[in-house]
Amino acid sequence: MKAAVAHQFKDPLRIEDVAQPEIRPGTVLVKVAACGVCHTDLHACHGDWPVKPKMPLIPGHEGVGTVVKKADDVTHIDIGDKVGIPWLHSACGHCEHCLQGNENLCPDQQNSGYSVDGSYAEYCLADAHYAIKIPENLDFVAAAPLFCAGVTTYKALKVSDAKPGQWVSIVGVGGLGHLAIQYAKAMGLNVIAVDTGENKLVLAKELGADICIDYENTDPAQHIQAQFGGVQAVICTAASKAAFDSAYQSVKRGGKCVLVGLPNDALPIPIFDTVLKGISVIGSIVGTRQDLIECLEFAASGKVRAIVQTQPLTNINQVFEQMIKSDIQGRIVLTMD
Ligand code: NAD
Ligand code: ZN
Ligand code: ZN
Repeated sequence: MKAAVAHQFKDPLRIEDVAQPEIRPGTVLVKVAACGVCHTDLHACHGDWPVKPKMPLIPGHEGVGTVVKKADDVTHIDIGDKVGIPWLHSACGHCEHCLQGNENLCPDQQNSGYSVDGSYAEYCLADAHYAIKIPENLDFVAAAPLFCAGVTTYKALKVSDAKPGQWVSIVGVGGLGHLAIQYAKAMGLNVIAVDTGENKLVLAKELGADICIDYENTDPAQHIQAQFGGVQAVICTAASKAAFDSAYQSVKRGGKCVLVGLPNDALPIPIFDTVLKGISVIGSIVGTRQDLIECLEFAASGKVRAIVQTQPLTNINQVFEQMIKSDIQGRIVLTMD
């Protein structure tokens, strides 16, 4: 099968012919139709994080397609079903976190396109317990970004505990942020969007952001504090430390700063301000299967729509170049044909 393969950190991916994965107990083989390109894939191929991915690696954790083979012990998914394969490739199922329904925190999880091969390929093996069915009325390309960008931002908003009518700030209007704006609006929140450049800010406005701030022209934290006395919650999706510093400063007393983007930096947090203002700083990592089902439902009912451009798998290196330059509107979705 054709796949895009990373061999060494920072080298371009190579389009290669590799062996189709073999079915094992508990798995299904998915003929991949499309796969969104998440900034995490770029971090993986660059070796940005303290925990390194397998090498060689087939990246991709927003893969969607049709089940073409299944192991005999798989009974809840059939051949022909349309499914997605999220970042949470599998979890142990019996640790404290799994038992509490927080399988996204399982210490024994495997991650698609990181610790196991992902969906930048014509076929991908999925753990049947973690492959999630796509609602009938969502096509593959529209569904793909929801399997990471969608569920991650939906979950981060849940974690933020912000209530309808309160203000949240979405920092970064990229693959994640453009969906965060829509989930936030659908949840009845008032939204400030922060990014730079007319393209991103016009998109944010179109997607329902009430206020858009260009961080190159206006200091977001100063503006937000002056106008509102801070936001109840900020969801920081940018892969930039500067964005996190500013996000922290934007929160009001008692508010929450939800960390989502993953630059490989430390975030020195002022203890005095955090204590006296009762600010929470919380990490949020993708979501559970139930979060994913809910996030897909928002899209199936028309409340949220990923903005996508498609590119053939063979163009992946150009797509990464565009991502490095922040030159993507919404999400780029690779197609396998
Ligand atoms: P993206 O490249 O599509 O979007 C990032 C956006 O941030 C761009 O629009 C860019 O212009 C903007 N940005 C950069 N610096 C900024 C700043 N200082 N202020 C405001 N905006 C700024 O990336 P993405 O796919 O949306 O992923 C973003 C980050 O989230 C990555 O680090 C990725 O690894 C991480 N991520 C985390 C999770 C999780 O579960 N926590 C899940 C998926 C992705
Ligand atoms: Zn577990
Ligand atoms: Zn992702």
